[in-house]
Amino acid sequence: MASLPQHHPKREQVMVRHHDTFLHSAFLQKLFENLSCGALFHTVDGEVEIANKAAVKILGLPEDTLQDKVSIGESWQAVDGLGESMRWEDFPAFPSLQSGISRQGFVLGIDSIKGSRRWLRIDCEVLFEEDSKTPVGVLSTIVDISLERKIQEEINKVTDRLHLALDGAHIGIWDWYIDEQKMVWDDRMYGLYGFEGKTHLSVRSVWERTVDSEDRDKVQQVLDNLREGKLYDTAEFSVNLPDGKTRHLRSQARGITDESGRVYRAVGINWDVTKEVEGQRRLQQMAFQDELTQLPNRVAFNFELNKVIARSRKNNASFVVFVMDLDNFKDINDSFGHPTGDSVLCEVVNRVTPLLDASYLFSRLSGDEFGILITGNPRVEECEKFALEIQKVLDEPFYISSGATINIKTSIGLSCYPNDAEDAIDLVKTADLAMYRSKDSGRDCLTWYDKEMAVALKRKVTMENKLREALRDEEFQLYYQPIIDLKTLQVVGCEALIRWIDKEGKFISPAEFISVAETCGLIYELGAWVNYTAFKQFQLWQVINSDLEYVSVNVSPHQLASPRFSCDLREIVEKTRINPGNVQLEITEGTFLQESLNMDSQLSKLAEQGFHLAIDDFGTGYSSLSYLKRFNVDVIKIDKSFIDDIEVDQADKDIVKAIMAMTSSLGFKTLVEGVERAEQAEIVKEYGCGFAQGYYYGRPIQAEEFAETFIGIKDKKPR
Ligand code: C2E
Ligand code: CA
Ligand code: CA
Repeated sequence: MASLPQHHPKREQVMVRHHDTFLHSAFLQKLFENLSCGALFHTVDGEVEIANKAAVKILGLPEDTLQDKVSIGESWQAVDGLGESMRWEDFPAFPSLQSGISRQGFVLGIDSIKGSRRWLRIDCEVLFEEDSKTPVGVLSTIVDISLERKIQEEINKVTDRLHLALDGAHIGIWDWYIDEQKMVWDDRMYGLYGFEGKTHLSVRSVWERTVDSEDRDKVQQVLDNLREGKLYDTAEFSVNLPDGKTRHLRSQARGITDESGRVYRAVGINWDVTKEVEGQRRLQQMAFQDELTQLPNRVAFNFELNKVIARSRKNNASFVVFVMDLDNFKDINDSFGHPTGDSVLCEVVNRVTPLLDASYLFSRLSGDEFGILITGNPRVEECEKFALEIQKVLDEPFYISSGATINIKTSIGLSCYPNDAEDAIDLVKTADLAMYRSKDSGRDCLTWYDKEMAVALKRKVTMENKLREALRDEEFQLYYQPIIDLKTLQVVGCEALIRWIDKEGKFISPAEFISVAETCGLIYELGAWVNYTAFKQFQLWQVINSDLEYVSVNVSPHQLASPRFSCDLREIVEKTRINPGNVQLEITEGTFLQESLNMDSQLSKLAEQGFHLAIDDFGTGYSSLSYLKRFNVDVIKIDKSFIDDIEVDQADKDIVKAIMAMTSSLGFKTLVEGVERAEQAEIVKEYGCGFAQGYYYGRPIQAEEFAETFIGIKDKKPR
């Protein structure tokens, strides 16, 4: 027997012998044999004196290990806990034998012939003689921990992945032991609060230094809720980092209960939601702010309006909604391009902003429409004064980068809460209606909403629908009124005037429906029909040999504003085989005043094509005469209102005389409208007026009657 500790058993000679001195009682032996954990006993000379079945199996020893003369060393294939290969001599029982010290928890792996590896945990207990000093051997117990180790490996893998994810997502974990009043943070938590790496500060003081004072109650509330038994809670809050930046964090917490259901601990995660919060804020800003002018947009305006309504309802207060629209803004965009249009809008905002009281809300409602809320029971005069100030600053010319100058007029509509409307949508709608009324009644003015406007609007909408049907069902007719040469008293031309007799046989005046057709866009179709019908009629009369020199048609400024107008007109001329020289286009004086930006080119195109131009309703537009020359005008039609009382009204006499003197010296032909009596004709003839039109000579009548009465042709078929 080799002595210890110097002597090591030789690998090939390690034998296991069945021995009965150690386990003297049969009972203990049985127990030892059938233990589920492996057990083996090394004697002081290093030999395995006894091994139970489980040990043989677990260690992968040959079946006959339990008989004598089986060498363990030869079949030994093992690695230590770190995976390094391990000799039989390294088996933990030997060091224990040498040192006389028991060892626990030694881990080694056994490789089977098939290549799989089992992990074992070995505890070595040194046994002593009764004197407790002299060792008799070492009892090793062996437990297969393969499964346990596999589970641990899996846990490690999952934990690693978790940490990786937490790191990547910047998620911090906190753990709150409620009873002990102890909050534990992981490193990532400190990082989220701006304390990267280690800090000597406690969780509490980091928290107090960083969490925004406005959000503290909110966060504290989550903790209180958990303590009071709530199982899940979340909060979002801002922290002011040591570097001065702000970070937005979201926290999700979960309460953990004991068997009685009491929350004794809570765990939670915090993560950075700054990007999300800032993105949301930007979106919100975009949804509420006009990008170009940075003013609140329509959504924001309505939002504020609703708030003001609620406040005013409570305090019995009144306020005013002010809507302002730039006239002919579309022309600026069309002629100078959108960037110029944009800079004009910004300049409008720059000019208006200094006029605003702090309590006014200025907003861009759409393209060229602005809204202003005037709160605090404003007086009518106050609002009107403000509106005039706005018009004044916008009246100043706008100088644009191309060097051109743009003049802008504004139409303003006002409506009042609670008199005109009580909800946001209706308030804006009524102010809009008033604004449109401003536009209609000659631009650049302001109008207060009036209940009658809504009635008129309804009438207009009904009229619009009826008009569409009328066009489809051919309910329109053209009447012709003679135009007389005052020198010869011959009929030289005729004005085509549209008539509408509806399905019930009711006559509807053009004065009523033309403006509706203009606003709903039907005027183009209607105008084209008028032109075609009038030209065709004139051509028929020409063919059957009439002395008529021309037919005069009324052209709405809306038609003229359409870039296609001259093209379309030319097409109709070609189709009806009429000469443009036989056509006179009547354009009201007001049209020139609007200074629509493409008016110049449109009119010169028409003149080039040979059409004659007449200024209709002359004298009502209060304009200068300078444009007459510029636009190649042929005829001036002096408005009926100057003729009505000309026999008795000296002022009218003077005006007509003055107009006549001016126009004839400029080389224009003149015509008076609305002549109803011989005396009127005499007077204007004396002043040098060349032509006349009116009931005195003939009312507007149907084509057939016109031919019969004024051309002396009846039932003659075209050649
Ligand atoms: P306007 O162009 O000034 O037409 C003259 C209007 O005065 C016509 O009214 C005509 O019937 C009326 N009138 C002519 N002589 C006399 C008279 O001696 N006494 C009185 N009291 N009235 C006279 P009407 O046909 O009702 O047309 C009204 C307006 O509707 C026209 O005024 C014109 O602006 C517009 N209009 C008529 N037809 C057309 C059309 O085909 N196209 C366009 N765009 N407008 C038209
Ligand atoms: Ca006319
Ligand atoms: Ca007229």
